[in-house]
Amino acid sequence: MPRSNRPRRPRGRASQPAEHEALDADRVLGGMARVESAGDGEWMVRSVSAAAARKEYSCPGCGRAVPPGNPHLVVWREDWIFGEADAIAARRHWHTACWRGRSFQNR
Ligand SMILES: [Zn+2]
Repeated sequence: MPRSNRPRRPRGRASQPAEHEALDADRVLGGMARVESAGDGEWMVRSVSAAAARKEYSCPGCGRAVPPGNPHLVVWREDWIFGEADAIAARRHWHTACWRGRSFQNR
């Protein structure tokens, strides 16, 4: 969709609510996100460094925890029907090995 390219720049750079809103998505999308095609669709995959892994997550591959400080992958759908923001909101944290060894319906 076309964006009206109307710079709304008040003097100074005090409050920028729109940028604040985009910050989380930027953090997810920044870095080394890449598209991977799998048998079940297109996925965005981003590496999370040990330093960036601050919380414990549950890996959907094995059901076990991804502990803080453990480099892993964040994955979300690239072709999600409800849009990118929704896909990112539903992102999952995988052990790198679990994502690599993931098996989808390929029987
Ligand atoms: Zn796992």
